[in-house]
Amino acid sequence: MDYDVVVIGAGAAGLICARTLGRAGLTTLVLEASARAGGRMRDVADPRARGAIELGAEFVHGRPAITYDLLAEFGATVVDDADGSFTLRDGALEPAGRDAFAETAALLRGAFDRADESVEALLRRSDRGAPSETTAWARRLVGGFDAADPARASARAIAEEWAGDAAAGGAQSRPLGGYAPLVAHLVRTLDPARVHVRYETVATRVAREANGVTVDARARGADVRIRARRAIVTVPIGVLQAAPGAHGAIAFEPPLPAHVADAIAAIAMGPVVKVVARFREPVWESLGDGAWRDGAFFSGDEAFPTVWTQLPVRADFLVAWAGGPAAARFAGASGDACIAAALGAIGRYFGDASAIEDAFEVAYVHDWQRDPFARGAYSYVLVGGERARAVLARPVDGALAFAGEAAAEGGEGGTVAGALQSGLRAAHDAVAALAR
Ligand SMILES: Cc1cc2nc3c(=O)[nH]c(=O)nc-3n(C[C@H](O)[C@H](O)[C@H](O)COP(=O)(O)OP(=O)(O)OC[C@H]3O[C@@H](n4cnc5c(N)ncnc54)[C@H](O)[C@@H]3O)c2cc1C
Repeated sequence: MDYDVVVIGAGAAGLICARTLGRAGLTTLVLEASARAGGRMRDVADPRARGAIELGAEFVHGRPAITYDLLAEFGATVVDDADGSFTLRDGALEPAGRDAFAETAALLRGAFDRADESVEALLRRSDRGAPSETTAWARRLVGGFDAADPARASARAIAEEWAGDAAAGGAQSRPLGGYAPLVAHLVRTLDPARVHVRYETVATRVAREANGVTVDARARGADVRIRARRAIVTVPIGVLQAAPGAHGAIAFEPPLPAHVADAIAAIAMGPVVKVVARFREPVWESLGDGAWRDGAFFSGDEAFPTVWTQLPVRADFLVAWAGGPAAARFAGASGDACIAAALGAIGRYFGDASAIEDAFEVAYVHDWQRDPFARGAYSYVLVGGERARAVLARPVDGALAFAGEAAAEGGEGGTVAGALQSGLRAAHDAVAALAR
């Protein structure tokens, strides 16, 4: 055996998993397809920005203990979001005035009273033929927050997520300085004697054998073969679903047991288009006679249904966000087209397109849907797939286990906290099994 464990993927799940394995005395090799660690935690180095520009994860949802403990290890400051919310109505921003999160959560609780159905079916029943503003908000929030298509998403699974600690509308914060310091901390605290990370190494095949696994990979044009006692696969669900032979796709031999293959098929990757636009100065704070200077979140029927600031930190950039069906409308669009649409929307939110254009300096976007090692932003559960995350969270057998946000339980699916929870769990399972 070359190693005790091969971990595939160096995102939140893979890094915390490898760190825990190393500390337990197990030799571990991490294979990472890209040239960097962090996966969907990904920032942009913009020295002129006042704050961390995040192309992927930005918030901590709820008060997840593992995430908070990890941030505390290196003394990170965590800042709660400000709550000023505004809605764009008839071309003008007004204070949101209603708690759309609480109303949506109340509607979703209806999912626990009956057999699983789609979020859309649940909302239609609640509308009884007359679409209300509440269900319109619910559709927008399930798309925006869960990156989910309401017509396909499991009402029960979404309701469970909305009832948990990471609930939409609940406590939400950001690590000051972004998630990059957390990634650096995880990499720094890998035991160098036991844990090795190979970047630009794309796993292509995992073969389970009598006493372990053989993992094949391609590293800068060369074939690599590693033997280990166990493989822990932390790649996104979209990568697990990629067609055989597609860039990043992993072949499993023998084929995965039916219940595991079914679980993978019962989870979807939700799309997100997140544009971060930096301005010469935070011009929106003085528009409208300063009426929304303390606004944190802005929503409306726009191509980007949500725009947010970094409040309480006064930064010089805005985030324009489209998730779920709103993001799917950008399928195939170039980065420049997404940026142009985001600036147009920001101009309409703040009622002064030319002031926004004049102050605009630069914008950033990453195409998560076309990134072969992500294939979307984060996962949601399809109708009937309520048990899928729990199935993925259990080891397949002695030689193979999955981890990552899609395999997170307790309503944390889709988040960094869920990825950390799941990576830690997979490491503990491996330590228990391999130490025997
Ligand atoms: C735009 C956006 C916004 C988000 N906002 C938030 C937020 O505010 N708060 C929050 O909690 N979460 C957010 N998320 C979700 C969060 O980023 C993820 O849930 C979390 O980072 C996933 O961690 P992971 O380890 O499961 O997967 P990943 O971070 O995707 O790590 C998997 C790794 O596997 C690698 N890989 C893929 N294929 C292969 C292969 N064949 N061989 C080797 N390596 C491979 C990838 O390169 C990647 O590094 C957001 C995500 C996106 C995209």
